[in-house]
Amino acid sequence: MPGEANADAVDTQSLAETPDHAGAFPRLDEYQIQELSREGFRRPTEAGEVLYREGDASCDFIVILSGKVKIVEGFGSGQERTIGVHGPGRFLGELNLLTGEAVFVTAVVAEPGEVLIVPVERLREVVARNPGLGDVILRAYLQRRSLLIGLGSGLRIIGSRYSPDTKRIREFATRNRLPHRWIDLERDAAAEALMRTLGIRPEETPVVILGNNRVLRNPSNAELARVIGLSPRAMTSGSCDLVVIGAGPAGLAAGVYGASEGLDTILLDCTATGARRACRPASRTTSASPPASPAPSWRSGRSSKPTSSASTSPFRRKPGGWGPGTATRSSTSTTARRSRPVRS
Ligand SMILES: Cc1cc2nc3c(=O)[nH]c(=O)nc-3n(C[C@H](O)[C@H](O)[C@H](O)COP(=O)(O)OP(=O)(O)OC[C@H]3O[C@@H](n4cnc5c(N)ncnc54)[C@H](O)[C@@H]3O)c2cc1C
Repeated sequence: MPGEANADAVDTQSLAETPDHAGAFPRLDEYQIQELSREGFRRPTEAGEVLYREGDASCDFIVILSGKVKIVEGFGSGQERTIGVHGPGRFLGELNLLTGEAVFVTAVVAEPGEVLIVPVERLREVVARNPGLGDVILRAYLQRRSLLIGLGSGLRIIGSRYSPDTKRIREFATRNRLPHRWIDLERDAAAEALMRTLGIRPEETPVVILGNNRVLRNPSNAELARVIGLSPRAMTSGSCDLVVIGAGPAGLAAGVYGASEGLDTILLDCTATGARRACRPASRTTSASPPASPAPSWRSGRSSKPTSSASTSPFRRKPGGWGPGTATRSSTSTTARRSRPVRS
């Protein structure tokens, strides 16, 4: 829970601030903090306090005024990893704050001090008045999302490389640029132990783990989108002029064209907006070292050959071993963009 204290979590050994990597962790100046102060409130923090936690549905925009805050992956799981330390003038959060996705990491106060808290809806008002500040925040959040993807933080997807549903879920995560790590049941011995610990049966795979203990068993794309907060906003009226299904290059072009002609347009996709092949799941994975960042390039996709290692594990399937009952689920549309008419 936000505000909860856990003094044990503070590691006094590693409190050096994380360097600002390509604008990922900028420091706000006095003027910017003053602007934000008009829409937020200050409060003291204590060591070990959790400001937001992995899996939370949302969080506020937080600026550190004094003291230090650690960003931790796997908080409280026994496999904690500190991925950042930030001090006065820096702000917390990442792209999820703007997209409405769930929180992927935990922020823990490492050194007591004071923070400025700005509710997200108020933040929008500040950046509308101050586009320069908006640029700093957006750039930082985009960089942080790339860093998280590179680190393999966020969701854990456990499934066999031979399962169509594993492929579907990985594609969903990759195309939506969700930080995630794939743990291949065919290659990772630790995966099997994890499955047993969580009480997951082989036929329930693939599974997606959020935070430390929320397990989704072979979720559809729509279910996964709903849980992480990617669901489309409800339509404000029951009708529109144009519905475009499929948000690849052709669908995007049709949607933009329709909206630019003044049509009330809705664009839907069962996976994500963008080109179908623009982002393919990384072909390499291991739980020991995070997978390479999925390259969002046209030619990033390289399939990896099936492993030849025989396995007697009930969690492992051989090529062709997936029967009709495990066919990819058809999913409902999960991404919608309502384009306001653009009038010249
Ligand atoms: C490996 C590979 C490499 C490529 N490299 C290049 C390149 O370098 N340069 C280049 O210009 N082109 C490249 N292409 C081609 C390019 O990807 C396609 O021409 C382009 O994506 C086609 O766009 P599209 O909108 O017609 O279809 P798609 O990109 O396939 O988009 C269709 C969309 O519809 C969605 N969809 C499908 N069914 C449903 C449903 N029932 N409900 C809702 N949504 C649905 C899908 O999720 C998808 O987002 C490459 C293609 C491949 C396969």
